[in-house]
Amino acid sequence: MREPFQTQTKAIKWSKKILRWKEDLLHLVYPSSCLCCEKELTIGMRNICDICDANIRYTYFENFSEHSTLDKLFWGRCNLTSTCAFLHFEQDSSTQQILHAIKYRGKKDLAAELGARFGERLAQNQSKFGSIEVLIPVPLHPKKKFIRGYNQSEYIAIGIAKSTQATVNTTFLTKGVHTESQTKKANRFLRWDNVSDVFHLDISELNGVKHIALVDDVVTTGSTLESCIQKIQKVLPDIQITVLSLAIAK
Ligand SMILES: [Zn+2]
Repeated sequence: MREPFQTQTKAIKWSKKILRWKEDLLHLVYPSSCLCCEKELTIGMRNICDICDANIRYTYFENFSEHSTLDKLFWGRCNLTSTCAFLHFEQDSSTQQILHAIKYRGKKDLAAELGARFGERLAQNQSKFGSIEVLIPVPLHPKKKFIRGYNQSEYIAIGIAKSTQATVNTTFLTKGVHTESQTKKANRFLRWDNVSDVFHLDISELNGVKHIALVDDVVTTGSTLESCIQKIQKVLPDIQITVLSLAIAK
């Protein structure tokens, strides 16, 4: 027998109330803190407090109809489908604090949280970013990853994936694993010239994939990304490549 509509609505209202009480109670027992400044969050805040959030400078590149500074950075260097950066990086800003925390203070959760917020923005522009199938974090050298314990770009990508259709792949593009050919090169300049070769590809990982996005934490000169992109396009000339960076230092 079906319950009357009013009874159903009452039941939904009560279950929502109970859920809210449960969340509030949990907050009292285990108060969560801001992932940036570590001050206690009040109820309703999502991982970052209002003060830190107000100090973040967003680029809004995802809504640009004209070319962004990130697009222009790669002009004449790489053939890209699209680019986007979420934050403006400035010295002595909260974005600098955030990036520092992500990179050097073990704040993997903050990287994933900002990645998720970035992904929410990207999801609003389906015509530009909706066809991205695989997110590829710019790899760290294994030694660096071992010391840091994680690759911050990987966590940014995990966050982006939460809000988009794309999946994360960390085995297609790797760094510095097969360095034998480099160390054998006696000439210092030849070795330097070979820097673009420190990235390695496993193309079997991208069978049938048409559009990938390289994910980075902060773009300054873009030379690391340029090396990755050139390497990928040499082997997969038809693949579409988008650059997604949490921040841009421009
Ligand atoms: Zn804060």
